[in-house]
Amino acid sequence: MKEKIHPTWHPQAKVHCACGNTFVTGSTLAEISVEICAACHPLFTGQQKLVDTAGRVDKFNQRAAAAEKKQAEATARRAARESKKAAAQA
Ligand SMILES: [Zn+2]
Repeated sequence: MKEKIHPTWHPQAKVHCACGNTFVTGSTLAEISVEICAACHPLFTGQQKLVDTAGRVDKFNQRAAAAEKKQAEATARRAARESKKAAAQA
């Protein structure tokens, strides 16, 4: 091994995950912080995890609720119009 070109090796480097999991590995860094690990990654947990940074899910739910409300109003208007027409014919 050539001297003075290799970084310090930490055989007991501590890894901290955002989910709270910690484990030990070998690394040139003494401590590592990660956002996702084998304990919380959806591939290993089998659970769907939505990473919604832009609020797209919220926006979609708002749009869907607004569309449903509009649809209900239109249905009510149509029913009122038809009952009025039936009353006029009778
Ligand atoms: Zn994790």
